[in-house]
Amino acid sequence: MSGRLAELDAVTIDAHGTLVELDVPVPSLRAALASHGVEREEAEVARAFRAEVAYYRARVLDGADATSLADLRLRCAGVFLAELGRPLEPEAFVDSFVAAIRFRCLPGVQSALARLGGLGLALGVVSNWDVGLHDHLEALGLRARLACVVTSAEAGAAKPAPGPFALALARLGVPPGRALHVGDGRDDEAGARAAGMAFVAAPLAGALGAWA
Ligand SMILES: [Mg+2]
Repeated sequence: MSGRLAELDAVTIDAHGTLVELDVPVPSLRAALASHGVEREEAEVARAFRAEVAYYRARVLDGADATSLADLRLRCAGVFLAELGRPLEPEAFVDSFVAAIRFRCLPGVQSALARLGGLGLALGVVSNWDVGLHDHLEALGLRARLACVVTSAEAGAAKPAPGPFALALARLGVPPGRALHVGDGRDDEAGARAAGMAFVAAPLAGALGAWA
């Protein structure tokens, strides 16, 4: 490594908006409802999903282990169904609901991770997400490239608090002054800087160019 890259031992990366994005959810949610005999218009389902997202975002720390995540998902399914007039019981729908919400890799992510790993940098994720993020990253083939994944739910604090960053760096065994965080949100920049790290804005594929 040359130049400023030689100052780095680790890169931590935000998940949503930097590694992955939500796959268009409304068609799959409508199909999930239809599989239970419930027909709803696109606009109704979109509105119900927005309500669920708002509920979830305020409670992301609740999903810290398998039991609490199952409870959070049940409550989220309940919020979604309540917006639709509760045509089903949340217990009957939650598995279909969870399966309908899928994520996909953002363009260039796989090759960017390979390039960063090839430079000998330890890679980690720091994300405001429930513990289910581990399974999403595994399903997308990203988990094997990452030395650690820290979710806010497991850290007990969300970005922009520095705690999740400090936990990731402790797991990676790298001091903050030798680590760079890449993310797409203000919480990413504020939290990384509060933890004593450098910061570069997403996309991940451009991070090295912006740093080097
Ligand atoms: Mg983000």
